[in-house]
Amino acid sequence: MSFDLAARLAERHAANLYRQRPLLDSPQGPLVRVDGRELLAFCSNDYLGLANHPQVIEAWRAGALRWGVGGGASHLVIGHSTPHHELEEALAEFTGRPRALLFSTGYMANLGAVTALLGQGDTVLEDRLNHASLLDAGLLSGARFSRYLHNDAASLAGRLDKAVGNTLVVSDGVFSMDGDLADLPALCAAAKAKGAWVMVDDAHGFGPLGASGGGIVEHFGLCQDDVQVLVGTLGKAFGTSGAFVAGSEELIETLVQFARPYIYTTSQPPALACATLKSLELLRHEYWRREHLNALIKRFREGAQSIGLELMDSATPIQPILIGDSGRAMRLSQLLRERGLLVTAIRPPTVPAGSARLRVTLSAAHSSAQLERLLEALAECWTLLESSDA
Ligand SMILES: *Cc1c(COP(=O)(O)O)cnc(C)c1O
Repeated sequence: MSFDLAARLAERHAANLYRQRPLLDSPQGPLVRVDGRELLAFCSNDYLGLANHPQVIEAWRAGALRWGVGGGASHLVIGHSTPHHELEEALAEFTGRPRALLFSTGYMANLGAVTALLGQGDTVLEDRLNHASLLDAGLLSGARFSRYLHNDAASLAGRLDKAVGNTLVVSDGVFSMDGDLADLPALCAAAKAKGAWVMVDDAHGFGPLGASGGGIVEHFGLCQDDVQVLVGTLGKAFGTSGAFVAGSEELIETLVQFARPYIYTTSQPPALACATLKSLELLRHEYWRREHLNALIKRFREGAQSIGLELMDSATPIQPILIGDSGRAMRLSQLLRERGLLVTAIRPPTVPAGSARLRVTLSAAHSSAQLERLLEALAECWTLLESSDA
């Protein structure tokens, strides 16, 4: 018996599925230095351009001087400090929920919430395109696990009919690889009809969506009675790191008592919470960031469609170009890179087989001129790719 890791890695290579980590040698921003080269990047989740914002950096610096650099312990021991508490209160107010609970990462928030709420004898129903952390959370919970057709309230209703025990419907708010919005009005109505709860992970909605950046629930005007468990992550539009769950007093106390990824981990550095407090303020009040981002999204869609690229049904900063074959997606990404542009190819198993794509993400930090450069390069590379196919 032995581990044949070399064979496993070779197989992944042969299937065009081998992954590599580009080495970033600059802060996040439209212009980055990657693997020793300056590139114009369209692949970060820093949708509002806050990851390298001077005021956020200053808040972090001041926080470190005041509170030191380490969380020191878990929240229940002696790691829950004033900045964490203030950030939780600000996030509760922002989301219009009684309370919010800070987690170290979105992955942990999802594992924590689902496993604290469900166990054997319960049911978890998930969109089949949910983020991996939500699917992992459902499997780990020990509840009956079933995936409904993507964004399909009728498919959900069929599964709700067969559900047993406490039932939780779980969905991404904005689907991270497609950019489309969950049809929450229909999904929440189906859940409510059966007394099920709804959990929404709005990692990509907070910031870009909603009049004040309140994400998909603000976009659709939904309340806690529709979405009982609301998750946001802080590493995307907030530009920092961490995550939160917002909801009722009882929900949050249940997580404090039972969510193992909350209990058994060190709190995030308090200075990070200071930085996030500042980025929350910018995210809410600097409307121009959302307005500029929406203008870029509109222009990208027009430009890409006139080149003949196949876009997905997305009104968000996530604008995938559907290619299909993994090898072709890699070639297009490579052609762009040779021209100084960084756009990542996303391949299975991150997306379903045969649906490889280039995942373009736009940020309020991009200028209109940078977007035009992307469109020109796409036109040129797309022609090259098509002629090399022929
Ligand atoms: C990024 C992401 C997560 C994970 O959040 P981290 O804070 O990066 O661990 C969870 N859910 C969705 C939908 C995401 O896009």
